[in-house]
Amino acid sequence: MGDFVKWFGDLRRGDVATVGGKNASLGEMVATLAGQGIKVPGGFATTADAYRAYLDHNDLNARIADTLAALDSHRIELAEAGAAIRKMIREGHWPDDILAQIRDAYAQLSDRAGVENVSVAVRSSATAEDLPDASFAGQQETYLNVQGPEALLAACRRCFASLFTDRAITYRRLKGFDHAKVALSIGVQQMVRSDTGGSGVMFSLDTETGYPDMVLINAAWGLGENVVQGAVTPDEYQVYKPFLDRPDLMPILEKSLGAKEKKMIYGRDGRSTRNVPTSRAERGRFVLSDAEILELARMAATIERHYGCPMDMEWARDGDTGELFIVQARPETVQSRADAAAFRSYTLKTKGKELLTGLSVGGAIATGPVCVIESARDIDRFIDGAILVTSITDPDWVPIMKRAAAIVTDHGGRTSHAAIVSRELGLPAIVGTGNATHILHDEQEVTVSCAEGETGFVYQGISDYEVEDIALSEMPATRTRVMLNMANPSAALRWWRLPAGGVGLARMEFVVNNAIKAHPMALIHPETLDDETREQIDALTAGYADKKRFFVEKLAMGLSRIAAVSYPEPVIVRMSDFKTNEYADLLGGRGFEPQEENPMIGFRGASRYYSDAYGPGFALECQAIRHLRERMGFDNVVVMIPFCRTPEEADRVLEVMAANGLRRGENGLQVYVMCEVPSNVILAEEFAKRFDGFSIGSNDLTQLTLGVDRDSGELASLFDERNAAVQWMIRSVIERAHAVGAKVGFCGQAPSNDPDFARLLVGYGIDTISVTPDSFLSVKRNVAAAEG
Ligand code: PEP
Ligand code: MG
Repeated sequence: MGDFVKWFGDLRRGDVATVGGKNASLGEMVATLAGQGIKVPGGFATTADAYRAYLDHNDLNARIADTLAALDSHRIELAEAGAAIRKMIREGHWPDDILAQIRDAYAQLSDRAGVENVSVAVRSSATAEDLPDASFAGQQETYLNVQGPEALLAACRRCFASLFTDRAITYRRLKGFDHAKVALSIGVQQMVRSDTGGSGVMFSLDTETGYPDMVLINAAWGLGENVVQGAVTPDEYQVYKPFLDRPDLMPILEKSLGAKEKKMIYGRDGRSTRNVPTSRAERGRFVLSDAEILELARMAATIERHYGCPMDMEWARDGDTGELFIVQARPETVQSRADAAAFRSYTLKTKGKELLTGLSVGGAIATGPVCVIESARDIDRFIDGAILVTSITDPDWVPIMKRAAAIVTDHGGRTSHAAIVSRELGLPAIVGTGNATHILHDEQEVTVSCAEGETGFVYQGISDYEVEDIALSEMPATRTRVMLNMANPSAALRWWRLPAGGVGLARMEFVVNNAIKAHPMALIHPETLDDETREQIDALTAGYADKKRFFVEKLAMGLSRIAAVSYPEPVIVRMSDFKTNEYADLLGGRGFEPQEENPMIGFRGASRYYSDAYGPGFALECQAIRHLRERMGFDNVVVMIPFCRTPEEADRVLEVMAANGLRRGENGLQVYVMCEVPSNVILAEEFAKRFDGFSIGSNDLTQLTLGVDRDSGELASLFDERNAAVQWMIRSVIERAHAVGAKVGFCGQAPSNDPDFARLLVGYGIDTISVTPDSFLSVKRNVAAAEG
């Protein structure tokens, strides 16, 4: 091949000045990663010299410079200047040598594909001589499904012209880049039949938290443009990277079904593309199988290893062959630049009525008036500091996104344009809400909260919130293990940087509330439900063939994110401890729960597990734990039994667990018991015989020692963990358990609310203290001080 056209296989990542970042990266992968299972569709790139030769050949340099000068001196408008320059470039003629080289390369590519005219994607890759790493992402055009040499040459001329879109001209003027020093390389890449196969985006880290052990994959039907632009809400999958080389494991941490409202397919004439609505079946189905999710995640890990930095990639699946391809890879820039030594934590103190939910981006909270802008044409209406509410965004929106306090969109996933730009700008954003532009209205005051995990909330009114910068360098070392109480699996990833000694309490019922929302018995017996509830349950379990599987897998995946963040440190998962009134509130729950006068001391905890009424539900909980430990690989998970009133109850529960494949001591399984009923203290030696350890639940233990309802506002002043009777309980159980060799941890709320309380516990010789993440630093300090 000549100088103007290069095969991808002859390019390397260092060739950015010649062919731009995108093409250089495709070349790097084709040339070096083919042997490691990375498939990249073949193709070639035109060089920056080809672009320059084209301009010279058509005498365009001076004409372009004159037009831009006219723009600078306000003789003409941007739109006029841009259109004039694009027209000049589009209407130019090819120098013979370039023409021949492009035709020849295309013919060879078609030959290799075994067809007369192979269908190609024609993409622009801009490059600047003096700024080879400047990001021009999303400013130039892409043409998909281009077939035949004439169509290809026309698309190439359009690509050249797209270096002068109004957006690109504005960007370079703002950044002070010299228009004459920018060149454009064209990538011509064989199309993957993703119109029938599906496609998406992936990252080799968690884009929200920077958590490095995860691959995040988005997927939708049809060509990938809709996912990149955020025009659809894609499926989202999360995979745990460290287990990818263990073929016996299935480390998928999360699968959530996206609406995938439409798909981009080839046009009727077999040329170009168009969008069509997706079918009900397509919306109700995951785009990728589990095996494909793992295959893509492995590719992401390989590519990351090769480049030596977190990567942002696009993938496509061929509908004919089912093969998975990587069509783009570039270094991830936002999280990898973030300051790893400190992080900012937002906590909501009050909240108004919940108005909307979507996917949260960024972890922050913002408040202010809403400004609904439907189209980029109305951008002038935007008020600085308002909350931008719109359907979707593209690069034209960036100027007002910069002036917004937060962004809320109807469509898009975590890899949409709106999400990526918000993350770069450090703004909270909620994407894929479905209907924000209808529900919210101008000047309405709202709070946008992205501080509550993967779900973002818009609340009515201006809420109070707290911002804290946590400096990890100030964290002292302690002999007593300080662990975390984790509630919401989606929030767990936010805390990966905390040097915690594992998780001391993961309440299963919170994960059920978050990830499952339905009563397990209703999932086991859907035939007993009324039509409306059954329909709701069908919608909830879409994508899963079997409702029991849905419960088991969703629960395991929810818990797995908590287990992953701490792996290989221990993570104590407590089996469900809903009260009957709380169970009844789950979808389909009412018919399966008795009405109780005192649910707090009613049918809860251990007593449910061996009962006829809940036994089958508990069996599903056990299956989820097995799935988590054995299939997913999180053998750091310890099981804990709550509210276990008598040693006889303990025996029955341990028997039921063993019958469900969870035998204490087998496969390294440890089983703990909560110490939260006075009988647990009084009969400490009996309980110690049956379990590996205790964890003190001061919330229930205080309630039951003092006889004070923990939820009662009137009695709040009597609810005191420092009361001598409660202290006696805590001290006694620690001493007596230690005397018989059992470990004792503490997971009640007391030290989280009152970090100084941790000093008392250290004085009593507690083994571990588990606290909410926001109080971790102050508890660590108190523990260090008490240890002297
Ligand atoms: C406790 O009782 O202290 C405890 C940690 O459990 P919960 O708050 O879930 O009842
Ligand atoms: Mg309790």
